[in-house]
Amino acid sequence: MNGGVTAAGGRITPARARRESKRARKARTEEILARLKAEYPDSRCALTFRNPLELLVATILSAQCTDKRVNMVTPELFRRCPTAADYAEIPSEELEGLIRSTGFFRNKAKSLRGMGQALVDEHDGEVPPEMKALVALPGVARKTANVVLGNAYGIAEGVVVDTHVGRISSLLALTAEKNPVKVERDLMALVPQSDWTLWSHLLIDHGRAVCKARRPDCESCVLVDRCPSAQV
Ligand code: SF4
Repeated sequence: MNGGVTAAGGRITPARARRESKRARKARTEEILARLKAEYPDSRCALTFRNPLELLVATILSAQCTDKRVNMVTPELFRRCPTAADYAEIPSEELEGLIRSTGFFRNKAKSLRGMGQALVDEHDGEVPPEMKALVALPGVARKTANVVLGNAYGIAEGVVVDTHVGRISSLLALTAEKNPVKVERDLMALVPQSDWTLWSHLLIDHGRAVCKARRPDCESCVLVDRCPSAQV
């Protein structure tokens, strides 16, 4: 492993990244952000949705499943269940049949039915635009709530940490944590709040296109001189 040369002329070696001041790490993060924005100008949520309820449902279905697969399942599901009350009322077997190919379909059906009932009982059938209320819904953890708040309501409450985001943030030495909640906390201290939602989309795009889990293509990476894990 070795590093490249920064714009300031210093190599970002793993040893140097470990000694990096908070201020320097923040500046490096902003440079990384600017380069990724230029590289992926259309970066956005890959799940198809038209309203907060559809995004909430699609995000619950995306656990242990690809966004592509979820997008194949949701058109029929959204036609059958356009409101929260529909999720509360749809028979379990019918719902399980509609979402079967996303995996873990029994648990997901249970979450969706519970989520629909809770929205009807406590929020007049609407998806609440608040973290505390969202994480109180069945099947909704902080990551799902962050996706909904950031992408359906434009509220940057936190950073979505999925496997790509956690892995690449770690390769870039922006966090030494493994626990997603702690990774999120580190990223919130480095990434400007206005870009918290976009940060996740950019890293997911970069993880799919270049910094792949099995073989990162460091030679073609726009971050090569900002990444202490670069292999060139
Ligand atoms: S592809 Fe290589 S240089 Fe780019 S972020 Fe991943 S590990 Fe770092």
